[in-house]
Amino acid sequence: TFITFEGIDGSGKSTQVKKLADHLRRKGHDVVLTREPGGSPGAEEIRALVLQGDPDRWSAETEILLFTAARRDHMERTILPALAAGKIVICDRFADSTRMYQGLSRGDLRAVVDQLHDLMIGHEPDLTLLIDMDPAVGLSRALSRQTSDERFEAFGEDLQVAMRQGFLKLAEEFSHRFCVIDGARDVDIVARDIADHVDGRLA
Ligand code: C5P
Repeated sequence: TFITFEGIDGSGKSTQVKKLADHLRRKGHDVVLTREPGGSPGAEEIRALVLQGDPDRWSAETEILLFTAARRDHMERTILPALAAGKIVICDRFADSTRMYQGLSRGDLRAVVDQLHDLMIGHEPDLTLLIDMDPAVGLSRALSRQTSDERFEAFGEDLQVAMRQGFLKLAEEFSHRFCVIDGARDVDIVARDIADHVDGRLA
C-alpha cells in the first residue's frame, strides 16, 4: 500500500507522517517511511541540487526535469521494491507536490508535469492525505523552522493561499485517492483522524 502526505509548507505533514508510521508499526505492519524530493541516495543528491543555493539556478522547466529524475530514482530504488515486498510505503510529498509547486508557482506548467509523470513515473498513491490549513498558520510555522529549504518558505502568503486552493482542487480531481484532513486541530487529534482513515482503508 502506497500512502502519500501533501500540504502547504508548515502544515505539520512531517510530524503526522511519523505518527502514522508509529501507529502502523505498533499494529505490526512493515512500514517504509520516505520523503520527496529525496528518498534514495541519488534522489537526495538531486534534492540538494534543487533546494540549496541560488533559487534561480534552474529554469522552471529544468527544475521539473530534476524533480522527475529524483522521483524516478526514488521509485526504482526505494518505493517499488518495498511495495513488491508487501510493505506499506509512506511518503512525505510525492507527484502532487510537483503538480503544485513546479506546475503552478512559476507559470502554468501543469501539463508538462503530467506528461513527464505519465512517461517516466506512471504510478499514483493508493491514498493521499492532504493536511489542509489556513496558510497564515502554516506560514508562521514554516518561518519559525530553521531549515535549508528556506528558499521555498520565502514564497509568501499569496502563493501559499494559491497553493492551498490548488491542493484542494487536486483533491477533487483525484477524489478516489485523496482524503482531506483539517490540520488546524490539535496534533494528536489530527493523528487520530489520520490513523482512523488509514485503518479503514487497510481493513
Ligand atoms: O516537505 P517539505 O515542506 O519539507 O519540503 C521542503 C521544501 O521544498 C518545501 O518548502 C516545499 O515548498 C519545497 N518543495 C517544492 N517542490 C516539491 C517539493 C517540495 O518546491 N515538489
